[in-house]
Amino acid sequence: MKQTRRGLLLVVSGPAGVGKGTINLSLISRNSDIRMSVSATTRSPRPGEIDGVHYFFKTDAEFQKMIESGAFLEYMRVFNTHYYGTPKSFVEQELAEGRSVILEIDVQGAMRVKAAYPDAVLIFIAPPSMSELKSRLIHRGTESTEAIERRFETAFQEMELVDRYDYVVVNDILDLAIARTEDIIVAERCRVSRNGELIEKLKGGRSAL
Ligand code: 5GP
Repeated sequence: MKQTRRGLLLVVSGPAGVGKGTINLSLISRNSDIRMSVSATTRSPRPGEIDGVHYFFKTDAEFQKMIESGAFLEYMRVFNTHYYGTPKSFVEQELAEGRSVILEIDVQGAMRVKAAYPDAVLIFIAPPSMSELKSRLIHRGTESTEAIERRFETAFQEMELVDRYDYVVVNDILDLAIARTEDIIVAERCRVSRNGELIEKLKGGRSAL
């Protein structure tokens, strides 16, 4: 019998530049039973971003319609400018079919997910130090100095909510960070509370002997 039938809802957050995207891509390429949720957003695509792959790019009116029809598991306005939201149907379907889903969303969104789905697993990817984070952001070279400063400020605000997460993974050496995250997933799948059906079956197994 398979361990845990329902997939895990995994929320992976962390400051910009910490490497959470790289960790998540590696997780989905190594584990065919883990999927990434694709968020909807009203911000414009950055060069190289593909609709339906990186985000579902929506107009304000389209996004509002989705809110009204209850299409989001959670949504919010990030940086007071654009909306971001997690479409509910994909997540629900994957979980029901036994696959785990990663939501790469901000800390506020993570709190909303935990409120709505108390068995979601919240993982915070942290930098080895804040100075290391700053130098990674600068070397990434994708943003202006002003944008980097803003993201760095946001990083400090995000760190305030780390104690509401279930796990913290330091991304010092990428391969280690990936292995730690995979270990968390394995441990969560083995939780007694997620294996009620298996345990009941084993307990009632005497009659089949
Ligand atoms: P970016 O514009 O750089 O792709 O993302 C900006 C921020 O929005 C990041 O912190 C990202 O994790 C967050 N974000 C992306 N999708 C969602 C979502 O569906 N919900 C929430 N709450 N935040 C999201």
